[in-house]
Amino acid sequence: MDLKKLSVFLKDNGAPAFRIKQAADAVYKNFAASWDEVPVLPAALREALHKGLRIHSVDNLETLVSKKGDAVKFCFGLKDGLKVESVLLNLLPEKWSICLSTQVGCPVRCPFCATGRKGLKRNLSPEEITDQFLAAAHYLKKTRSQKISNVIFMGMGEPLLNYDSVAEAIRALAAPDRVGLGQRHISVSTAGHVPGIRRFAKDFPQCNLAISLHATEDALRSDLVPLNNTYPLGQLAKALTDYIGSTKRRVFVEYVMLEGVNSSRSQAARLNSWLRSVAAPKYFVVNLIPYNRTGGQYRTPARERIKVFADLLETMGLEVTVRKSLGEDISGACGQLAG
Ligand code: SAH
Ligand code: SF4
Repeated sequence: MDLKKLSVFLKDNGAPAFRIKQAADAVYKNFAASWDEVPVLPAALREALHKGLRIHSVDNLETLVSKKGDAVKFCFGLKDGLKVESVLLNLLPEKWSICLSTQVGCPVRCPFCATGRKGLKRNLSPEEITDQFLAAAHYLKKTRSQKISNVIFMGMGEPLLNYDSVAEAIRALAAPDRVGLGQRHISVSTAGHVPGIRRFAKDFPQCNLAISLHATEDALRSDLVPLNNTYPLGQLAKALTDYIGSTKRRVFVEYVMLEGVNSSRSQAARLNSWLRSVAAPKYFVVNLIPYNRTGGQYRTPARERIKVFADLLETMGLEVTVRKSLGEDISGACGQLAG
């Protein structure tokens, strides 16, 4: 849904100005998925809208619900036949987060990630990003009478490589006269696109930033996150120091745990020193993500090993969480989205 298109359409059809707010509220606040669900509009106008302006630019082709019911994966079809996925996650009772995609595929090509394997097909438009949210919100309302409270840009693609569209989607989600989520409920995860981090700090100082770090030696990080060749650790460190300096916000550090690659005791110590070189430990939450299998060469460390790594970091004064993996049975876990 694009508010500008909606306004122009209503004006062209001779509707008075107050209809714009009614139509926009129906879409952004009540999550109507078709104009039939908007009885407040006159029948003739609904008919015109029905013929001329679809509410969602994405088609929900398939919905998969995990066995426990705590994860729901949507496969959305786009106008040109490509597909993207979004995942609803029930992390706390009655609290749902949605993980949104920003690109079809991803140009960064991290070797452990299913999305990166195929490279980039194209960027998503602002509408295609917002509409994943609106379609999922419609589903949650219809099936469970619940609402989405948080948005994480952690689905397919590198959000900061599609900056303008992601920024427009954030505005639609945060604006009080549209979805009205509030920037503090919105998080962007990046593989470390330095110019994007700098823009994001200026444009959205209230949103949350997550960095997919995964290693603190340049050679290893370049293998795991090839964007590191363009923006190596030194540049990333500086961008994060500046980000924390200007926003005073904590940064979420994501670290995918790969057996025999990045999860030794000495690598935990390195991670601690690297973070301390960026800012005081209170500015970080380290989120360890046990590797989810995507068919490649990597293996997940044993649970005890992950615990040792986490405990070490905690002893060094860092806040650490180990990510609970939801939705593995529907291939909806981190890194498993392949469209
Ligand atoms: N491109 C962005 C956001 C999408 S990826 C980024 O990389 O941050 C979201 C998160 O899933 C990243 O932290 C990524 O490193 C992680 N991830 C990718 N593949 C994974 C896998 N197979 N197992 C666990 N986490 C994975
Ligand atoms: Fe792209 Fe993120 Fe996957 Fe890397 S982990 S390939 S940056 S989506």
